[in-house]
Amino acid sequence: MWQEILESQRGEDPPRLSVEDAIILYDEADFNLLRSVAMERRRYVNRGNTVTYMIDRNVNYTNVCTINCHFCSFYRTPGHAESYTQSYEQISKRISELEDVDGVRVLMQGGVNPELPLKWYTDLIQYLREKHPSIDLDCFSPIEIEGIAEVCGKTTLEVLNELKNAGMHGLPGGGAEMLVDDVRLGLSPMKGSAENWLRVMHEAQSLDLTTSATNVFGFGEKTLHRVKHMEKIRNLQDKALANGWEGFTSFIAWPVQLENNVFGRRSRRRNQTQVGAGPTEYLRHVAISRLFFDNIKHIQGSWPTMGLEVAQMALFGGADDIGSTMMEENVVSASGTEKTCALEAELQETVRRAGFNASRRDSDYNLLDTPDVSSNVQEFPAPPPLQPV
Ligand code: SF4
Repeated sequence: MWQEILESQRGEDPPRLSVEDAIILYDEADFNLLRSVAMERRRYVNRGNTVTYMIDRNVNYTNVCTINCHFCSFYRTPGHAESYTQSYEQISKRISELEDVDGVRVLMQGGVNPELPLKWYTDLIQYLREKHPSIDLDCFSPIEIEGIAEVCGKTTLEVLNELKNAGMHGLPGGGAEMLVDDVRLGLSPMKGSAENWLRVMHEAQSLDLTTSATNVFGFGEKTLHRVKHMEKIRNLQDKALANGWEGFTSFIAWPVQLENNVFGRRSRRRNQTQVGAGPTEYLRHVAISRLFFDNIKHIQGSWPTMGLEVAQMALFGGADDIGSTMMEENVVSASGTEKTCALEAELQETVRRAGFNASRRDSDYNLLDTPDVSSNVQEFPAPPPLQPV
């Protein structure tokens, strides 16, 4: 059965993969065959032999949050001794450091901080826009937008509009986790339903803000839930494209991290072994996402949670992008990842050793001039380049 489904996915214009067939492939398909068909698809969708990456920086402007997601080790409640909110000058200094290394985008996300009014956000964006005109400001996530809307008494669309007018470039797809309420509401009861995330993203896309879609998995959910998450994103993308909007630039998935958070402690106490995900499961997830998303062009390999080696393997199974330098990361890393920054040379070298050409990109996946900064480490020879389709 899986053989026929997988075979049907070959070629330039295969039929859309149904949820039912995706589940069969996810659970049953031969690992290497699945990945090779995903690789073939990637070569039809993104022709040539280029793998992209971006020089950017994460800034986590506040860790104050009232949402209390069970898998989060980053947030602090209002008034907590370890809570912080960075000043405009502190944020700007971080962006200046990004400019020093040819950065093009800042990804600024934080908690849902009830102490900050909308004006704090719009003034911040305007301030950064003026001080750093060449840096794209991809900021906040749907739940932060909802939090701001609640504080200021406006709709989320009005909040997004004001942020865009202030100079915000994009709304990253953080906080999607698992867009299936059976799973979601048990992990983040205060985060609201999947529909909220989808609605705010739809509004952002209607305003031509750059958006991406994310997915955290490994909460003990079923394959059905994972594919249903993808289906909701695919459906939303259909709507965006039907409206003539850009929609999601990319899909990025990673397994939940289990250290230092309620979810991890609870799972260990219950001796739950079916949480998190190892490299093989992650690579299956990447391959299925490549085949399932016939309307999203870019699939990213995630090095912060899986390591550069596994992210490199993802390039042979559907991914065409290896993420970004990040420079710092404080949210996922609070739950266990150790590597929170990649040098441009590391990303280039990872891509080159896999036989691809590395190219800088911007937040909208436009290719940028790319100096070769990869190191000259030569302990083992790079494999020959694969032939493009
Ligand atoms: S994941 Fe985000 S929304 Fe949830 S508790 Fe952490 S900071 Fe708050």
